[in-house]
Amino acid sequence: MDFFANYTMSINGRAEGAERQFEAINPATEEAIARVPDASRGQLDAAVAAARAAFPAWAARPIAERQALVSKLGDLIDAHAGAFKRLLTREQGKAQAGAEWEVGGSAVWCREIAKQRLDTHVVEQDADRMVETRRVPLGVVGAITPWNFPLLLAVWKIAPALVAGNTVVIKPSPYTPLCTLKLGELVRDLFPAGVLNVVSGGNELGQWMTAHKGINKISFTGSTATGRKIMESSASNLKRVTLELGGNDPAIVLPDVNVEAMAKELFWAAFQNSAQFCVAAKRLYIHDDIYDEMAKALVGYAKTVKVGDGSEQGTDLGPIQNAMQFEKLQDLLKDARDQGLNFLLGGDVPKGKGYFVPVTIIDNPPEDSRVVTEEAFGPVLPLLRFKDIDDVVARANNTDYGLAGSVWSADAEQAKKIGAQLECGTVWINEIHSFGPHIAFGGHKQSGMGVENSLEGLAEYTNSQTIVTRKNPPGVGAG
Ligand code: NAD
Repeated sequence: MDFFANYTMSINGRAEGAERQFEAINPATEEAIARVPDASRGQLDAAVAAARAAFPAWAARPIAERQALVSKLGDLIDAHAGAFKRLLTREQGKAQAGAEWEVGGSAVWCREIAKQRLDTHVVEQDADRMVETRRVPLGVVGAITPWNFPLLLAVWKIAPALVAGNTVVIKPSPYTPLCTLKLGELVRDLFPAGVLNVVSGGNELGQWMTAHKGINKISFTGSTATGRKIMESSASNLKRVTLELGGNDPAIVLPDVNVEAMAKELFWAAFQNSAQFCVAAKRLYIHDDIYDEMAKALVGYAKTVKVGDGSEQGTDLGPIQNAMQFEKLQDLLKDARDQGLNFLLGGDVPKGKGYFVPVTIIDNPPEDSRVVTEEAFGPVLPLLRFKDIDDVVARANNTDYGLAGSVWSADAEQAKKIGAQLECGTVWINEIHSFGPHIAFGGHKQSGMGVENSLEGLAEYTNSQTIVTRKNPPGVGAG
């Protein structure tokens, strides 16, 4: 299989091109690297019909068989890890260490989610009757993914949906479709036809999916604005929805930390994946006592970090993934300049090819400035001073987002007390970005609805079914 040519969709176990195509761009060079099928409405209908046809047999298979096949998907990703990593860097832009983390994680997720199951519970039992609650699959799951972690976030949806007994139609972001298309090609012979269908196209294809009467659930990762539209559109047939949306995560740094040692960790908390990370630390609240020292240490460390083409050895941070996001960030930087904000580092976008934005650190901007209130989704970080804990907690919570947050201190217990006051789905104390197949992840407020990962995440791919059995109906039994 050639990972670097011939991108086709997977519909009912077969390769499919399309009448129209669009281009995938390498963000480090702005060169077109592939032509990608742009699915027609008829092709989406065919994919949904294939998924519906495959559903009864797939759902009826013993869970151990479904788990074994999902685990094999992990083995296949591992077996092709080198090609996936190169392709991921080409289409997404990320540096090699990041690609390694994502591809390795995708394989681990498949194997670990494949160990999960939801058991039937007996909730009442006596001589007369038994009441059981079990989980049954929903039918066809429509999965829609963004461009920052295209492979891993696809697996976060595919693996639990299939283990739970659903069939899947997945649509990657039009900016990063290639790894997902190759994943579909890789498993054409692994899963029965129609169990996993991969279609590619633009936002309109996503809209068709959310309105499609043949799809029972939408599992979506992307922006809050799109999440709202998806909820509206999914109402047509009361689809189940899981929404993993944007964030504007606060990190609170107390005065007792070791500044030099912590600066490096805080840098990566904010800038990993060029800050195109839903859970990047996006507002760094630093206690007044150490603010100047920490700002200096952060800037010092940032200067050692290399921004460049992710495919080159030595690159730490790649480009912004696409032109739309690149323009959005330039607009944010212009606004910061127009407001007269103080740049401690960066701010000037270099001329030349590639969507490169330098690491930019802004010194204590007003709390209502755009760099503080908006999710930058790129390497523009505001440092914010605080003196009082109640004040910083209120400022941290003063947002419609509620994805995650972190607190950093030599006193973990004190940090935990502060963290518990944050209005968000995940609170990290003295660490950040630890995820696991067994750890529930989801947003509060407008950062999402429902969770992914863990048994709770698996349950979101099922309906609850209660079975009540009367043991001795009249006229039955020994008489
Ligand atoms: P996006 O919302 O623009 O697009 C995400 C996906 O939705 C793409 O596949 C796109 O084609 C599709 N889409 C767009 N409009 C649609 C519509 N009306 N109906 C159906 N589908 C539609 O988001 P993005 O720019 O690709 O990703 C960045 C955002 O994702 C950021 O806000 C980030 O914080 C968020 N994100 C969240 C998580 C999380 O787990 N919470 C993880 C990664 C990214």
